[in-house]
Amino acid sequence: MLLPIVRFNQPVLRKKGAQVTAFNAALRKLADDMAETMRTGDGIGLAAQQIGQAIQFCVIDMRPSDAEFDWEIDGRKPPLDLCMPLAIANPKITALPGKETTYEEGCLSFPGIHADVVRPDTIRVEYQDLDGTAHTLVCTGLFSRCVQHEADHLNGVLFIDRMAKRVVAEIKPELKELEKETKAAAKKPAK
Ligand code: ZN
Repeated sequence: MLLPIVRFNQPVLRKKGAQVTAFNAALRKLADDMAETMRTGDGIGLAAQQIGQAIQFCVIDMRPSDAEFDWEIDGRKPPLDLCMPLAIANPKITALPGKETTYEEGCLSFPGIHADVVRPDTIRVEYQDLDGTAHTLVCTGLFSRCVQHEADHLNGVLFIDRMAKRVVAEIKPELKELEKETKAAAKKPAK
């Protein structure tokens, strides 16, 4: 089922997510619906806040990407078709030593807006899967960037918060326009 995507500047995007504690059929259904919504929007990641739920949960699917990245889950490298879409609950991210990279990020809650964000290249992520089982993911490149972007959402942090002031200044008119559209849409009576 497709879910409506919450756009900037709706308040739920700024809410820190509650821990996921119920690993049940409802969470599975949410993961399926979020993955479908993400695919339809041509995204590679979607956080629960973006469909209006402030919980520590996101989905990622790196398969459509042709960027370079590497990954290991619990010390092995499963084929992407086996581990994607990847559902991540309660992630804890640690940046590992190494370079930082700059990349023009987009976000399904900011349609049409893309701008440079600097992030560490290699991270370790402790998370739980849909059964509540704990895993350790180590990843680099766009995979790492995507997990960092989504995990930020779970804490109410948006990619504009990670941009240099100069970059935010450049996209200010687009942000203002988007805020206006979001406000106007909120005022429309539900059909
Ligand atoms: Zn986003």
